[in-house]
Amino acid sequence: MAHINESYFNLKGSYLFSEIARRVKAFGKAHPDAKLIRLGIGDVTKPLPPAVIEALHAAVDEMASAESFKGYGPETGYEFLAEKVAEHDYGSRGVKMAADEVFISDGAKSDTANFQELFAQDCTVALTDPVYPVYVDSNVMAGRSGEMNENGRYERFVYLPCTAENGFNPALPDRHVDLIYLCYPNNPTGAVLTRDELKKWVDYAREQKAVILYDAAYEAYIRDPEVPHSIFEIEGAREVAIEFRSFSKTAGFTGTRCAFTVVPKEAQAYGRNGEAHGLNALWFRRQSTKFNGVPYIIQKGAAAVYTEAGQAQVRGMIGDYMENARIIREGLESVGLNVFGGRNAPYIWVKTPEGIDSWGFFDKLLNEAHVVGTPGSGFGPSGEGYFRLTAFGRRDQTEEAVERIRTRLNL
Ligand code: PLP
Repeated sequence: MAHINESYFNLKGSYLFSEIARRVKAFGKAHPDAKLIRLGIGDVTKPLPPAVIEALHAAVDEMASAESFKGYGPETGYEFLAEKVAEHDYGSRGVKMAADEVFISDGAKSDTANFQELFAQDCTVALTDPVYPVYVDSNVMAGRSGEMNENGRYERFVYLPCTAENGFNPALPDRHVDLIYLCYPNNPTGAVLTRDELKKWVDYAREQKAVILYDAAYEAYIRDPEVPHSIFEIEGAREVAIEFRSFSKTAGFTGTRCAFTVVPKEAQAYGRNGEAHGLNALWFRRQSTKFNGVPYIIQKGAAAVYTEAGQAQVRGMIGDYMENARIIREGLESVGLNVFGGRNAPYIWVKTPEGIDSWGFFDKLLNEAHVVGTPGSGFGPSGEGYFRLTAFGRRDQTEEAVERIRTRLNL
């Protein structure tokens, strides 16, 4: 009999997005003439930069001739891209990184979901609350969660609440944990950590022989020069941290698919006998067994992000999204809402008005302004009483949404 991995039974259905879809559909039926604006999406709306398009076309042409055709590539990525990443994303910030510490992949989603495979099932996992749900579900599937209690929390996870009260900067766990998921700039709260705050985590991980899984998918949105772009800017992080990055939100690759994970040679975890094992070699083994690499064409497109033209175009794109963030932030503040994020991240995290919970605010925004956002409670119990809007919409729609919120929302 083929028994199922029963850990899958502990997964909760993706209630959040199906419930949003259900409510939006019902609203559309009742108000067929209403023009909805969606500011809940986590997907980009701008096309790929011209430098990337040009490189993609050239790479397609290379595939048309026997001399330049490429079949299977290196599973962990072509050197031409890994070297650019090491030089531009790390070297230029004073962080030494070798090309063979950079693993090119098809997404930060798959890498953040898959990396936990390297660790034992009885590892204790710490997660911020609210959180990007992939870290949760991948560890549930792997059997590390236990069951969910009545408060909406898995019994074996250690939750690190992030609320306005602690400035969305979670306290260290009050007990030993083995794996720590951190995401900065944060989805969904838009919060960032300073060097000192991040150092606290690196020191904790070194003390506890834990590993930090650091998701920096939104690194390119950092504006404040005091905010670190990489965990490897922190002394000692090479022994205890893995970093995930992506071209998705940096250069519009959400549909094109290219990302990378950085695993320093010093990063390690331990056998039952206490013997240290390098995570770089283990991740290499895992990827070369289960993954056959990102298409050559796509990697050529990603490499074009690092050309002078590519860098200027990407900066322009991100600047436009961050202008959307400013418009949303200031618009909402002007009607008295308490707004967080949106300064170093494309996410705006809004405190719902007194007496209105996350779903109540969702309905209010939908009914009064015809704007769709995401209820904070969908990202974890500590997201209750908050609401997420994103800066990835079109400018005209973002402006109109904010105008409607300013003039139609009955607060
Ligand atoms: N990590 C975070 C925090 C995200 O918000 C997202 C996408 O929304 C991802 C990773 C996924 O990135 P990718 O498109 O590279 O899979």
